[in-house]
Amino acid sequence: MPKFRCQNLIAVTNAKSRHANPSRPTRLHKTDFRFNNAQLCFCFTATLGDRGGEGYERLSCPADLARWTVQAGLCAIEPKVTDTLFAAALLLREAIYRCAVAAAHRTNFLASDRDIVNRWSAKPSLAPQLGNRPGTSVQWHKVETVEQALTLVAQDAVDLLSSAWAERIRICENPLCAGLFADLSRPGRRRWCAMNTCGNLAKKQALRRRRPTNRSKRSGTGGRLDRRLP
Ligand SMILES: [Zn+2]
Repeated sequence: MPKFRCQNLIAVTNAKSRHANPSRPTRLHKTDFRFNNAQLCFCFTATLGDRGGEGYERLSCPADLARWTVQAGLCAIEPKVTDTLFAAALLLREAIYRCAVAAAHRTNFLASDRDIVNRWSAKPSLAPQLGNRPGTSVQWHKVETVEQALTLVAQDAVDLLSSAWAERIRICENPLCAGLFADLSRPGRRRWCAMNTCGNLAKKQALRRRRPTNRSKRSGTGGRLDRRLP
């Protein structure tokens, strides 16, 4: 298995524990940002939830984006976000999503999406910094502007989408979710964006399907027999 070369990803993976960031809530509500993804760029695309359904927008105003940059561990304090930058951020987010879906389907990127991602990725960024332990602690100076934060997100997407791991990009099998993840497991058979959400939901639904219905319990027959009756 090739070594993952996405340094931004490694940095975010190291910092991704929600317990490590006091600005993140410990009990998640639907409105809360999702950071249970090892990829920074996919944490960003997850700001639009329920993509397979009507969509649930967690970035409904510039202040939301400012809050996201802090909770993502990119900015120390909430940066100023203009309406123009906010609109550009949403365009970047959707361009990353479509590029990743193209990777999951083994098709080419749309030129317009690739241009958006590349334009953001080409902006000045920050140098990686050594932490105090070998191998686990690539760190970044906290960025100060939302442009720098979005540049890191775009560079993370470029690193992932141009690496061998692009073949492991998956779309969550929960049809309502349709969130993205990179399957870094050895067997490569991961199906859900997160086990504690979509994975558990699928398990519960499978369990419910296997259980006999109340009606079949009352009649003393199992669900399987019931289905055989006319
Ligand atoms: Zn999911």
